[in-house]
Amino acid sequence: MSYAIEAQNLAVAYGELRAVDGVDFHVGYGEVVSLLGPNGAGKTTAVETLLGFRSPTSGNARVHGLDPVRDHQEVVLRTGALLQRGGVWFPMSPVQVLRLTSSYYQAPRDVNELLDLLDLRRCAKTPWRRLSGGEQQRTLLALALLGRPKALLLDEPTTAVDPEGRQVIRDLIKNERDRGCALLITTHELSEAERVADRVVVMNRGHIVVQGTLDELSGSPEMILEVSSPIDPTALSAVLSCAVTLDGPLQLRCDTASSPEKISLVTSYLNSVNVSMTSLRTRASLEERYLELIGNENSEVRS
Ligand code: ATP
Repeated sequence: MSYAIEAQNLAVAYGELRAVDGVDFHVGYGEVVSLLGPNGAGKTTAVETLLGFRSPTSGNARVHGLDPVRDHQEVVLRTGALLQRGGVWFPMSPVQVLRLTSSYYQAPRDVNELLDLLDLRRCAKTPWRRLSGGEQQRTLLALALLGRPKALLLDEPTTAVDPEGRQVIRDLIKNERDRGCALLITTHELSEAERVADRVVVMNRGHIVVQGTLDELSGSPEMILEVSSPIDPTALSAVLSCAVTLDGPLQLRCDTASSPEKISLVTSYLNSVNVSMTSLRTRASLEERYLELIGNENSEVRS
């Protein structure tokens, strides 16, 4: 069976610029995948190509096994989308635009149910141009859900949304996944990806840097110590029975999960050499790993 959403060696160029440069990833039904990367990584270009608004320069885009350019009508009917800088005719209110758009679908979702789901009741009759940024974003999401899509492609859905609204959107993403929808969500905020995604695809400069589950991307557990004076990593390695490397003159990375026993071994060793511990972190966070991957890539390009 084909994936709900699939990019196969997909490349898209704007003249000389290869905005998407041969990427492979997929999203299964009932799965949330975050397409994560800094500004200009090629995320929007990939999403717009998967929706059939651009043709690939080479490779393939597939949604429900269909070609989004050739089978555009069919793909659009079965797929919900939220695009950056999307909008609605300015005098229309959420309830008006939802009722009008629902007439395009054979079995649309109930408009009142969507107004409740996206917390739009209070502004249901407010014209689009007077809605706040978050209310506009939630109206666009309601529109994306109207046709009971089996795939959702959401480009930065939480941009300009306050913390309460973000929670509404995160809950909605989980509900859609639970009813078997495939979701591809772009973001440049790692914390958003961490909250909603089953898997993450990290893009930078048009290609994929790494992809996997959050656990796979975080790497193995580590203890990172900062100490008041330099110590011998070999001696600490023998004490902890694990590899210990120097990250800096006063920072050591120990290849072990932190446990009360390990912390007590470190403390006793440091006492014995008259050095104190100034900080202890239990693992390189996903954010550190992400910044490291993107930073390494960008410095390779510069050098
Ligand atoms: P952001 O997080 O800022 O939205 P992104 O990862 O979605 O970024 P894209 O919008 O896909 O990235 O842009 C990728 C690259 O392609 C950028 O360098 C951008 O300037 C360029 N680009 C995008 N659209 C066009 C276009 N229509 N013509 C020329 N260049 C474009």
